[in-house]
Amino acid sequence: MESQVLERKSSTIMSKTLIKKARLITASDDTRADLLIDGEKIAAIGMDIDARTADVVIDATDKLLLPGGIDNHTHLDMPFGGTVSSDDFFTGHRAALFGGTTSHVDFCIQPKGHTLRRSLEMWRAKADGKAAMDYGFHVAITDLTDAVMEEIRDLPSMGVTSIKLFMAYKGALQVDDTTLFKCMRVAKESGVLTMVHAENGDAIDILIKDALAAGHTTPDWHERTRPPELEAEATNRAIALARAAGDAPLFIVHVTNEEALNAISRARARGQRTYGETCVQYFYFTRNNLNGSRNDPFEGAKWVCSPPFREHNDQVALLRGIRLGDLMIVSTDHCPFNYKTQKILGAESFAAIPNGVPGIEDRLVMLWNAAVLTGHISPSKFVELTATNPAKMFGLYPRKGTLSVGSDADIVIWDPVVRHTVSAATSHMNIDYNLYEGMQVTGKAEKVFLRGSLVVDGTSWQGTRGGGRFMARASALLA
Ligand SMILES: [Zn+2]
Repeated sequence: MESQVLERKSSTIMSKTLIKKARLITASDDTRADLLIDGEKIAAIGMDIDARTADVVIDATDKLLLPGGIDNHTHLDMPFGGTVSSDDFFTGHRAALFGGTTSHVDFCIQPKGHTLRRSLEMWRAKADGKAAMDYGFHVAITDLTDAVMEEIRDLPSMGVTSIKLFMAYKGALQVDDTTLFKCMRVAKESGVLTMVHAENGDAIDILIKDALAAGHTTPDWHERTRPPELEAEATNRAIALARAAGDAPLFIVHVTNEEALNAISRARARGQRTYGETCVQYFYFTRNNLNGSRNDPFEGAKWVCSPPFREHNDQVALLRGIRLGDLMIVSTDHCPFNYKTQKILGAESFAAIPNGVPGIEDRLVMLWNAAVLTGHISPSKFVELTATNPAKMFGLYPRKGTLSVGSDADIVIWDPVVRHTVSAATSHMNIDYNLYEGMQVTGKAEKVFLRGSLVVDGTSWQGTRGGGRFMARASALLA
């Protein structure tokens, strides 16, 4: 049964919404309670809140109440490999909201020769007038001059408290160890978190050239030329450099395999400020998906992303990682490219396939099915991984990422029992395929509120283009 609107006293803009009898889930609690929204904020949480105080009353019996998801790893409207990711700041936001994600932190990529301030202006212009949920930016540094070093110190005053460095994509985004080490030191001094894409781009570059010279062009060679030990090597190197930089806080994005995870676990066990993230799709797919189908061997291109999909034992290790906390966040690395018009750029060479997969809409339901319904984690742990830890790590807590009085009313009414089938035909991402096509899943975001406004109601879009806001972020509250 859908959660019922019991009462609606006024047809003008609603200011107070009372959600009754929900099972309210935060990272620390799992209780039955009523929740009152007043304007953009959560005004009260308690037992039997008087319905007369509200303009709208929703009965959420048998439903879960979750804080809106925060996806801290996305690439909307991003230039890559001669094309641009297919979701912009409206289509990507609308899709995210349908999936229960109400804010995100995207990557602003410094074009070579540009200042960080100018780069941020360019990325904010992409979102202006389009954003339908709240958004912030990390800055990916690709061109470190002395002036850019100084600008890192100013980033917090621009609402940006994290930088990203790519140790892969030689000749494009990759930085050398000099840049990495210098950035870690200045970031640490400035209250800025350093994030790294950890793969050894120099060795990968050689493997790609060798493979192409030997005539190997199919998508499966994407994985064969990016083996797990090169991710583990870069992970270890970044950890060692961060330690030598005076224990600079280090966030390793999209961890895919056991060896890389073990490097993070070891660092954390000795007390180093090292944090790991994985993405939901790594729980579902393996290198075998890159082989494509019998009818279409190139179909493997749909699964081309970096780092690539690994083996079953790595999936088991990642589940252990989220349970034990060495992996503290599950994001998406949403970077969609249409199969028929964009992935096809790599038909003659796997190295020309745009790297990235879609998922911003599917994250919550797919993690719910992979980890909660299988008994690996509790609903509270699910909230921690998808909302609370992203908010703490990226300077949004407690404004976002939890259900507490005074927090933004970013709220998901979650139906935990509804069964449905994931498909590109019914999803809202601007892309011609879905990674999880045809999978039967349980659970769904039924109603979604962004700062108190109902933006998704079942299958109905109620949000606003331009209704999302830029989030100036504080420094990380490190765990
Ligand atoms: Zn990414």
